[in-house]
Amino acid sequence: MADHITKTLILGSGSAGCTAAIYAARAALKPIVVSGMQPGGQLTITTEVENFPGFEDPIQGPELMERMRVQAERMGTVFCQDHIVSLDLSTRPFVAVGDSGDRYIADTLILATGASARWLGLDSEVTWMGRGVSACATCDGFFFRGREVAVVGGGNSAVEEALFLAGPASRVTLIHRRNSLRAEQTLQDRLLSHPKIRVLWDRQVVEIEGGGEPAGVTGVRLRNVHTGAEEVLPVEGVFIAIGHTPNTDLVRDQLDTDDAGYIRTVPGSTKTSVPGVFAAGDVQDPVFQQAVTAAGTGCMAALEALRFLEETGSAGA
Ligand code: NDP
Repeated sequence: MADHITKTLILGSGSAGCTAAIYAARAALKPIVVSGMQPGGQLTITTEVENFPGFEDPIQGPELMERMRVQAERMGTVFCQDHIVSLDLSTRPFVAVGDSGDRYIADTLILATGASARWLGLDSEVTWMGRGVSACATCDGFFFRGREVAVVGGGNSAVEEALFLAGPASRVTLIHRRNSLRAEQTLQDRLLSHPKIRVLWDRQVVEIEGGGEPAGVTGVRLRNVHTGAEEVLPVEGVFIAIGHTPNTDLVRDQLDTDDAGYIRTVPGSTKTSVPGVFAAGDVQDPVFQQAVTAAGTGCMAALEALRFLEETGSAGA
């Protein structure tokens, strides 16, 4: 067990956390990044990224994050692989405690803990988790080579998952609760013209069915939201892609959040309701949730942390 003392502690190592680290390190704040449960964040579970500026050819999400991490390290950031279990924002310096037992003591804090995949909330979803139920096509799609799978959702994530799964799977059925998608038009066009993908509109998943030996998913029971009619779609895999929940459990009682739990920041800024605490990336952004917008707010958070340290007279070495 050790104490790590820093001017700027960054929780989360996705696009927001790494960009904050690059800027904070360049400002000689000697930042510490605590990587969290999913080092590199959500981009590490995506495949090709083709909308991050600077890469004319698509770059793999994990490679993009590795490059950001190396860049931040080269500037002088220290990365700690730990998972923060408690955080005290009532006095400064702020104190975070990791499940390693280590304490992180910081004059400023940048929360870049991102958001996690949301689940349908069905008991059968839990029963068949890891045995056909997944929230990550790029992690688990390989297991469904030549099999039929379903994807649930109608946003960018669901469409991207369906397009990805159409590679290994024999057929992909996208199940959406309405009759129009909210995904970007280019993604919709690719989905709707793909020979291995079909869409079932106006359907809600009411149960995931399983069995057999070895036991796994055998189908999904669907209900038509207009007629109430039920049907079973035989599939061996179900990928849930219905959005995200912000990772704010540590701070919910300590910072202002909206009803969904996203941290509220001062408009045009990353300042939170506690002076010296800044929030960047998906944890404070229910709207855009892009790698590049996360990077942008990560940059803002580092610059605002530096300004805060200068104003409070604690920026020096
Ligand atoms: P979204 O919130 O955009 O979409 C969630 C989808 O799931 C909606 O279609 C919603 O239906 C559906 N849904 C929500 N709850 C349920 C439920 N209980 N049962 C059934 N369906 C449900 O989330 P995404 O994860 O797709 O995207 C999040 C953000 O990340 C967006 O801003 C998106 O643009 C961005 N993103 C961008 C990518 C890119 O640029 N390449 C890739 C992936 C994500 P309904 O439409 O009826 O509300």
